[in-house]
Amino acid sequence: MSMHVIYGGTFDPVHHGHLRLAIELCDRLGVANVSLVPCHIPPHRGDTGASAGQRLTLLELAIRDEASLRIDDRELRRAGASYTADTLRQLRAELGPDEPLVMVVGTDAFASFDRWREWDMIPELAHIVVVQRPGPALDPDGQPAKLLAERKVSDPARLRESPAGLVLALDAPLLDISATGIRDRIAQGRSPRYLIPDGVWAEIRRQGLYGACPDGNF
Ligand code: ATP
Repeated sequence: MSMHVIYGGTFDPVHHGHLRLAIELCDRLGVANVSLVPCHIPPHRGDTGASAGQRLTLLELAIRDEASLRIDDRELRRAGASYTADTLRQLRAELGPDEPLVMVVGTDAFASFDRWREWDMIPELAHIVVVQRPGPALDPDGQPAKLLAERKVSDPARLRESPAGLVLALDAPLLDISATGIRDRIAQGRSPRYLIPDGVWAEIRRQGLYGACPDGNF
């Protein structure tokens, strides 16, 4: 039975931390591919980033030569805000009731999981893989910690045994790269080279994104 793995984010811009983790997920979960799902940027993030179309173009350039990475742009095509529960419900309808569906989140995102819309529906629709990122530990009394304690598995093979409902805490090695750091660096006229794919950097400069100077040095 195949297993569908989605990895969502703002990807503003996509960087080698995201891409390396996606490859690592293929290895660790034993799947042939992972789908990157760019989301609408919530209004509170301000307007310093790239547009949805620009983020999608950068993602396409980033994965162009990598057969194991896919892009699922359904959240960008949907009018208005993206809610993960809606995305998972749509995917569940497409995959049928039995295929394991896996959603990947960082510990930073998982820590505020109980503030996501219809969060308690999510484990009914998918398994959750929580990837350890530096930052504060989960509040032991909070709902995310409770969910983890109740549904935790440590063997990735367990995810194939049911369509949804388990939480796997994955200790994958992470590159210390953030999109915020890249945006700041570009805005200051410093090079983000080797943090993002060269093709992504070339496009950022071509379009003058994040304050990049189109004529600047590579
Ligand atoms: P920002 O700095 O703008 O918040 P980000 O670099 O954290 O962006 P997002 O697009 O917000 O990236 O993150 C998408 C997903 O990727 C999240 O689940 C996040 O935990 C994860 N992620 C972010 N950076 C890394 C990294 N360096 N390695 C692995 N995963 C990462």
